Amino acid sequence: MKKLLTSSFGYPKIGENRQLKKSLEEFWAGKINRDSFFKQTQELNFSRIKKQKDANIDFISSNDFSLYDQMLDMSVMFGIIPDRFKEISDELELYFAMARGNAKSVACEMSKWFDSNYHYIKPEITENFNLKENKPLKNYLSIKNDLKIETIPSMFGPWTFLKLAKNYKKENFESILMDLVPLYRQILKELQDEKVEFVRIEEPAFVFDLTDAEAKVLIKAYNRLTENLNIKIIVQTYYESLSQYERITSELPVYSLGLDFISNTQNFENIKKFGFPKNKKLIAGIVSGRDIWKTDIAKTLNFIEELSKTIGSEELIISNAAPLFHLPVSLEFEKGHLNPQLLELLSFADDRLQELDMLKQIVVKGEKPPAQDFASIIKSFADESVKKKVAGIDENSIGRKEEFVQRKALQDKSLNLPLFPTTTIGSFPQTPQVRKARADFKNGRISKTQYDDFIKSETQKVMKLQEEIDLDILVHGEFERNDMVEYFGEKLKGFAFTKNGWVQSYGSRCVKPPIIFTDVSREEKMTVDNITYAQSLTKKPLKGMLTGPVTILNWSFFRKDIPKKEIAFQLAIALRDEVLDLESAGIKIIQIDEAAFREGLPLKKEKQKDYLDWAVKSFRLTNDKVKPQTQIHSHMCYSEFDEIIGDIYKMDFDVISIEASRSRGEIIEVFEKMKFDRSIGLGVYDIHSPRIPPQDEIFEIVDRSIKVIDKGFFWINPDCGLKTRGYEETIPALKNMVAVAKKARAAAVD
Ligand code: GLN
Ligand code: ZN
Repeated sequence: MKKLLTSSFGYPKIGENRQLKKSLEEFWAGKINRDSFFKQTQELNFSRIKKQKDANIDFISSNDFSLYDQMLDMSVMFGIIPDRFKEISDELELYFAMARGNAKSVACEMSKWFDSNYHYIKPEITENFNLKENKPLKNYLSIKNDLKIETIPSMFGPWTFLKLAKNYKKENFESILMDLVPLYRQILKELQDEKVEFVRIEEPAFVFDLTDAEAKVLIKAYNRLTENLNIKIIVQTYYESLSQYERITSELPVYSLGLDFISNTQNFENIKKFGFPKNKKLIAGIVSGRDIWKTDIAKTLNFIEELSKTIGSEELIISNAAPLFHLPVSLEFEKGHLNPQLLELLSFADDRLQELDMLKQIVVKGEKPPAQDFASIIKSFADESVKKKVAGIDENSIGRKEEFVQRKALQDKSLNLPLFPTTTIGSFPQTPQVRKARADFKNGRISKTQYDDFIKSETQKVMKLQEEIDLDILVHGEFERNDMVEYFGEKLKGFAFTKNGWVQSYGSRCVKPPIIFTDVSREEKMTVDNITYAQSLTKKPLKGMLTGPVTILNWSFFRKDIPKKEIAFQLAIALRDEVLDLESAGIKIIQIDEAAFREGLPLKKEKQKDYLDWAVKSFRLTNDKVKPQTQIHSHMCYSEFDEIIGDIYKMDFDVISIEASRSRGEIIEVFEKMKFDRSIGLGVYDIHSPRIPPQDEIFEIVDRSIKVIDKGFFWINPDCGLKTRGYEETIPALKNMVAVAKKARAAAVD
């Protein structure tokens, strides 16, 4: 190997102390003005760039920072503004209105980003568009002028942008794509005029299955895009292997292609089979952007050697395999906090930069790799008894024994609910007082008794409130939970928690994924006390809330060397015990949230069947021993399941609550196509937005829904949990919702 260079992209935007969140929230609350907001966020972006420079990275991306979301940045840059926001003249106001909605208009739809827990703002394609501002250039110049650092301006490519957009007919895809191309050309031309040498065009959607026809269109678009330009284009793909490998690698008219060698071995298999063109540079993604496990340096060095031999080049660029924003920023905070042995196994975003540089130095200087022994640490953590339990499961007998119809009859009788029952998804506002009490308890400022008493008093208040609003099925409010996954992880064996391992989920919202570092089991009851306490305060049925195995798994960092299915089954067995304990404590309705069921779906079609098979089984495993009278709910906070509706049906719950308000009823079409004889609660308003939904808007959704969903199966609820909202929004919104339910009932009887 003669020459090895390093490249990085997608470095976290939130800052190691969640500075982005703080700036956004203070700005929205009017606590800082626009100038301070811009200053703070610019500083944050600069610090990201400097960090990559300090880590000696050769190709650093710019324009991969965003005030809210990079896809939203693209929409705004192209003037792709839905009509309902057209009258807003102030740029920043417009930007945040699209992201979060305003008093007049619902926000743009938010959707899961590939198979991750990041959410992006979906572009809504409009009739006309044009380049409003060359954002990549602007960003590049500000870094160059202020920091004197040369970067590679970066943006999403037209294929990915359009594939992930909505509001256009499929048959118009090609013509819209070709209309977008001149805008990209203009960006590139202006960059070229500024003597920018490289540009990075991110095309993660190249890893979705591509037909021959699609590959042709894509190449045609890129031919037009690059015609007579001589700026060096890097097309970056990630999350999976490049589809249509042979054709795209040979025909795409670009300087360089970035491939992911971490997600699986397919890219490398393709290289071995079809080669890699001599006239292109390969950017080899060889350190992970998706998992937190340290790179095995010796193994990776061997891989680099092998790769360079296979492509017949002595020069290689190595990089992260996927954007680094899926990882927490820095391990520094975890020293003295996490188990030192576990710490030995971990690597966050900053460490990935170090790993890249280390690989480069070792190759350039011909040094020896450091000694690493992960296997013995992993072995010392293992719990064989859990493995045995999973091995003992008979997969063919997983699931409830009675049919849904039989169960429904029994449940209707025992619960005696009105038509269109109203309920919420589980959590109620986590007020500053709730957060403070939790922090005080964690830091030892208040005792366990004081904390428990506080949670009880919050529960009492929310029970009273729900009675006043006249909801039909009540919940306990989830005040004891910081997060729906973390809470369970903390009670289960096999999990570890970082102190500061925050990852952006959307906009200002961050999550701190737990680490499933070894076999999982339940040691004690996790929710029974809080839930039975709440039930004791009301005569109405109370819905007990649990987080499902697939969601716990997908929202955690998990081991790469254990099959996901096995971890999901371990979790399911632990949850099954909890479900049975709730049932014997008199809880008649249990909701097992599977908010992350869809996002774990593999990006390539051929891999989906296997995933769905074990994901469905693990959900069923959690409740396959309950009585037929016990009503099992699930919840998913999105509506994009056209393709997997059959598998969702197979989960065999009694009731499911799902999102429907942001996508304004598109989900209804799904139920038009399939007879879905399970009860369904369609989210009738968007809880991600501070806006209070007017009654007529809710009514419209209900009205449209009951045209396709059997009346006896229809439930009314918000989109998702209310924990991120305030009571000032929650109370009027729920009141409107209940009023609509009553109106709809009356109308149905007429
Ligand atoms: N029960 C959870 C809550 O209400 C569900 C949250 C979610 O689906 N993301 O907070
Ligand atoms: Zn949800």
